[in-house]
Amino acid sequence: MKHNILKLLKDDFGEFVSGQKISEELGVSRAAIWKHMNSLKEDGYEIESISRKGYRIVSSPDLLNYDEIASLLNTELLGREIQYYKTIDSTNNFAKTNANFLKDGAVIISEEQTAGRGRLGRNWVSPLYKGVWMSIILKPDINPIYVSKITQVVAAAVNRAFFKLGIENKIKWPNDIIVNSKKVCGILTEMNAEINHVNYVVVGIGINVNLDNEDIPEDLKSKASSLRIESGKELKRKEVVAEILNNLEPLYKQFVESNDLEKSIDICRENSILIGREVKIIDRNQEYLAYACGLSDEGYLIIKDKDGNTKELISGEISVRDKNGYV
Ligand code: ADP
Repeated sequence: MKHNILKLLKDDFGEFVSGQKISEELGVSRAAIWKHMNSLKEDGYEIESISRKGYRIVSSPDLLNYDEIASLLNTELLGREIQYYKTIDSTNNFAKTNANFLKDGAVIISEEQTAGRGRLGRNWVSPLYKGVWMSIILKPDINPIYVSKITQVVAAAVNRAFFKLGIENKIKWPNDIIVNSKKVCGILTEMNAEINHVNYVVVGIGINVNLDNEDIPEDLKSKASSLRIESGKELKRKEVVAEILNNLEPLYKQFVESNDLEKSIDICRENSILIGREVKIIDRNQEYLAYACGLSDEGYLIIKDKDGNTKELISGEISVRDKNGYV
């Protein structure tokens, strides 16, 4: 009921909606409306009430629930179902546990993660109300060997979304987004598949949106930052989520429906922070220097090693660093 009341108020954003109208349209008592309004205020909505005129929304909180995000989406597939939590261990864990019951395109969002994860079992710092910690469930009808390419599609979409929000950024192959040489976003793609059938893919996207300096642990400060720290702007997190989903949908559909990665790869190439530089490749226990020449049409990083041999790296277990530091 609270959601329906909120929707009525939002449909007439800024205008007064009378208690009588709410009561008639939704079949609730005046007393119940009053209770729901108080509960909405507790959630952070600013609601003005004037006797005889009714209720009016003055401002909405920057929460990442369906009520706040849905009106910003122009997607058909992504984010049509949003599972929202205040706290969760890891949105990717939750998504994997529940993927069979959730629709293609469903999104899990939490205001904080207590055990956020990066690749290779690393941790991901995810403080309350400061970032976007979300996972998208995808059920593409593609061969499992192509699933890692989805990371490139998502990186391209995040890059576009940040530009739309006025933030210059680069992509660090395969899965990080960089602003001013620091990591502000990581992408973690996991899947569950049979030999030639994908059951589901979970794409985790962690974005440091409004983290302050003190939210970033000392040992990460040299390589991690937030959009707020780097741009000096406080962004609305719900707009960040919506931009990403809106930009991702067409690129993702091109890939799964037409097997066409061209646009995504073009974006990843044009915005790559690695191409044209000497980099350090960390491949399990082995480390070596190489020159990053380009990105193949398949989304693999093309490198030339010190003996002049060219090879293509598939993202899997590889990390790439600048030869002198992070990037
Ligand atoms: P990479 O791709 O750089 O090898 P991952 O994608 O596996 O790294 O991300 C995990 C690593 O990111 C962690 O080990 C940690 O160093 C760093 N990290 C953890 N939390 C954050 C965060 N909120 N923002 C940026 N970097 C983070």
